[in-house]
Amino acid sequence: VHIELINTGRELLLGRVLNTLQLWICRQLADLGYDVNRQACVADDGPQIQAAVRESLSRSDLVITTGGLGPTSDDLTRDWIARLLGRPLAPDPETLGRIERLFIQRRRVMPASAKIQAMVPAGARVLRNDHGTAPGLAIEVRPNPFRAEGRPSWLVLLPGPPRELRPMFTQSVIPLLLSEFPSTEKFVCCILKTTGLGESLVEEKIAGPLQKLVQDGLDLGYCARIGEVEVRLGARGGRAEKIVNEAEGIVRGLLGRLIFAAGDSSLEAVVVGALTEQGKTVALAESCTGGLIAHRLTNVPGASVVLKCGLVTYSNEAKTDLLGVQAITLSQHGAVSEPVAREMAQGARRRCGADYGLSVTGIAGPGGGSEGKPIGTVFMALADEAGTTVERHFNPYDRETFKFAASQQALDLLRRALLPFP
Ligand code: ATP
Ligand code: MG
Repeated sequence: VHIELINTGRELLLGRVLNTLQLWICRQLADLGYDVNRQACVADDGPQIQAAVRESLSRSDLVITTGGLGPTSDDLTRDWIARLLGRPLAPDPETLGRIERLFIQRRRVMPASAKIQAMVPAGARVLRNDHGTAPGLAIEVRPNPFRAEGRPSWLVLLPGPPRELRPMFTQSVIPLLLSEFPSTEKFVCCILKTTGLGESLVEEKIAGPLQKLVQDGLDLGYCARIGEVEVRLGARGGRAEKIVNEAEGIVRGLLGRLIFAAGDSSLEAVVVGALTEQGKTVALAESCTGGLIAHRLTNVPGASVVLKCGLVTYSNEAKTDLLGVQAITLSQHGAVSEPVAREMAQGARRRCGADYGLSVTGIAGPGGGSEGKPIGTVFMALADEAGTTVERHFNPYDRETFKFAASQQALDLLRRALLPFP
């Protein structure tokens, strides 16, 4: 199936809004075994939208557009596509009724322009919008005048707001896709998430041993993020499952404890899950991460059961007063040091009555580095009943990246304590 995606919106081209719809839609499709062959972004400009859609229709089985279905003057997609296909627009009574009810519910006066959103090109299927006014539209272009031999295509128009588009995609577009383009071959995909090793080192470890499977049809991919490398193992056809299983076995054997999750789980979710399962709690003492570890843990539902407390002890006084770090430790070794990290973790654990105390202290920069402790140096410690482990890491990046990398390393320190075996 040849699929193309066209995102419309000048804000995307001005760098004002990140094109998260591309990311999300491509990911949804890829997980189902459909590849997007091409993606384009165009401004809210009728002729440009029309030209892009025409070009995509000339070679695609499915064209998806996003944005420009709303009621304002820069919302041009519906009109210009109806014109391109030579289909007259007529109001859809059901959609109009739904929009009117929505305004009554919200106790707002409905502007005349809102009615535009109920206009539907002849023959189009309406994709209900449960989270906003403008519905999506699915149009079967058969015959397709822009494609060789008039081969038919589907054209799907979706609204721009992500919170409206996502449920519509799941409820309406995926079923359409599965019925119109049933996959002819089996597709299997496994994603293993690792942390603690850079992308090229991960590749160095596994690429050689997987080479034979790659020749057999394994699709091997890597995706590097901050403090995290995803290994993607995919295959199609009758032997897909066998190939992916075998590859997974090899990767697990080689990377072992570096793998923290299979699939979508985040590191914080894995940590919260393990703490919950073991009935353990954690207290945090954060300096340079400024509460990011607490933020990440509290993004996970159920964090309240396992997170006792998170202290952002940025100043030396806070480290002494709130955690009981000794003044002499601070003056002898400096705030960014192994002994201070150790006392911070122990203090957090003791004062909050948690099973684990986790601490981070480091130099984010741009100032404050020295020869022995250059910018990017960070110490982290994990205290539990048995004792305290301290690690030193080096993340010479910008402040935000530094903070995320440090939070990742600290969470992983806890993960490895909780889950000692792969
Ligand atoms: P509306 O009825 O809100 O006007 P619409 O279908 O006309 O919906 P747009 O006007 O193009 O859609 O975009 C609406 C909102 O959705 C904007 O705030 C925009 O920033 C956001 N948005 C649009 N496209 C994308 C995208 N590709 N990625 C992320 N956000 C997007
Ligand atoms: Mg709009």
